[in-house]
Amino acid sequence: MDKKVPEGVGEKLARLRLKFRSKTEGELDQLAEIASQLTCGDQARPDMTESIASAYSALHRLAGSAGTFGYNELGDHARVLEERLKPLAERLSADIDKDSDHREEDTQQLLEVIAEAQHLRTLLDGTVEPMEGKPGHQPRDSEQDSEVAPDIQVILCGLPEKTAVFLEQALSNYGFLISRMDVESLPLAEKTRMAAVVTSEDELARVSSALEPSESAGNASRPPLLCLGRQDDFNSRYSLAEAGADAFFPEPIDAPKLAERIERLVNDQNEPVSGKILILDDDEYLVTRYCTVLENAGFCVRAINDPETVLSELSEFRPDIMLLDVRMGAYSGTTVAKLIRFDPEWLSLPIVYLSSERDKHVQLEALAKGADEFITKPVSDDYLVRTAQIRCYRAQQLNELLIKDSLTGLLKHSVIKQEVENEHARCQRMSHVSSVAMLDLDHFKAVNDQYGHRTGDVVIKALSNLLRHRLRSTDLIGRYGGEEFAVILPECTTDEAQKVLSQICNAFADISFATPDGDLSVTLSAGVAALNAFASGSDALDAADQALYERKTSGRNGVTVFHQV
Ligand code: GH3
Ligand code: MG
Ligand code: MG
Repeated sequence: MDKKVPEGVGEKLARLRLKFRSKTEGELDQLAEIASQLTCGDQARPDMTESIASAYSALHRLAGSAGTFGYNELGDHARVLEERLKPLAERLSADIDKDSDHREEDTQQLLEVIAEAQHLRTLLDGTVEPMEGKPGHQPRDSEQDSEVAPDIQVILCGLPEKTAVFLEQALSNYGFLISRMDVESLPLAEKTRMAAVVTSEDELARVSSALEPSESAGNASRPPLLCLGRQDDFNSRYSLAEAGADAFFPEPIDAPKLAERIERLVNDQNEPVSGKILILDDDEYLVTRYCTVLENAGFCVRAINDPETVLSELSEFRPDIMLLDVRMGAYSGTTVAKLIRFDPEWLSLPIVYLSSERDKHVQLEALAKGADEFITKPVSDDYLVRTAQIRCYRAQQLNELLIKDSLTGLLKHSVIKQEVENEHARCQRMSHVSSVAMLDLDHFKAVNDQYGHRTGDVVIKALSNLLRHRLRSTDLIGRYGGEEFAVILPECTTDEAQKVLSQICNAFADISFATPDGDLSVTLSAGVAALNAFASGSDALDAADQALYERKTSGRNGVTVFHQV
């Protein structure tokens, strides 16, 4: 399909460019006005310090923003002029030497710079595209939240028979859909359904080239490629990485780790990085442009230009990252960054400076005050989007470590409990019906005793995967305790919840786990309660727990709905 910038974005950017242009013309007019006042009679002479400060700040702003609107050459020239005024501006703003003999010299220099700045007008006529042109990133497809997550299709390709048989069994325990395929058929297979490919070191190169996206497929990415191998040393890992492997697993294969890695690689690939970005910059047009470009790339953006509102905006919007201008009128961005760090809650918030400052030492000093990266203005659209993606991705990964259970990747106890309260509040606000469920593995102690703790862990992970695949992506799943899970099903009656959880119970009971001590099946019990029938989320959880207890005492392997007696 033709990849076009969606209607409206291009026009919006063009309109912004026009506004930037007329604002710049206005500023050049003001500079010309200063020059004419400086050259007229003595009484009307404007204050030298103020004149230089406003000329310097106009040129600084132009140097930092013109490129973003496509006026690269203008930006470069403005930077040269800015640099020429810098020593003068610094000397006068430091309050030294104000009434010195330099006055005539200073005036002369300022007039020269302003005269040269007037030539910048001719550079406003060009029709070049803004830096690197297109916003380049498509917005996310419309929400698919109400749909069940699709099965993850894993292809085993070019593996020795014995390994393939072992993995087919071991990986299907985790709820993956497994297909075996030889390397020759790979190019003919429908790539869009492949979520991940597992191969051997002997076949890696052939598999990797068979997976290369064809011309006709556009720039569709290829599925992650996991490689199994006999050798585990630096050189063999290096050559596998070079040959296109995304992950490596030495023999003997650790199936749970392999499953976990597949899940992670597939998730990373399927979910385009997005996130929430707070921008604080006092340049209205630049901010509008950043917002347009970032929103078009799928980010949720909030922009502010008043530094005094930053703390309340942070608390309310809770961004993943923040982009911060360094010079904002009377305020300095570096001091704002420092002030944000006063609050322990924002210690880990990634702050990225947007600034025209090119001096590496000044940049380093600014970073030392509490930010993570320095982007030098003018910023190209692609660079901005890429930086935002990388920073958001890292921030989200760190956040995941904080809120997710390491064995299962499900929400931790405290997080799911809080989510239950949140959903309870939402039910009251929106008057919709939601359900909560408590799930618990049956006779799990016996599983551990008979098959070992490691097999027990595999069973727990398998259930987590099954829940993730079978529930809607809007449902929330938490590991409530060791072998106990809590699920929130928003906008779902207890009857509907019972139906979907019964299907999950049946599917889980059908899984046969291959273990060195023979095959194993495990069952699951669940209790369900209506969130809105209770005064609080935790009361509803207690009711679901009570229903679970009833199920445990009346035969296990199934779902019981709480009924008030
Ligand atoms: P019931 O059907 O009544 O729920 O019986 P049960 O044996 O499942 O319940 P019980 O509460 O007696 O035992 C739960 C077991 O789950 C005991 C504990 O060792 C095991 N368990 C808890 N967390 C983990 C874990 O992370 N990994 C493994 N392998 N086992 C765990
Ligand atoms: Mg600024
Ligand atoms: Mg149990």
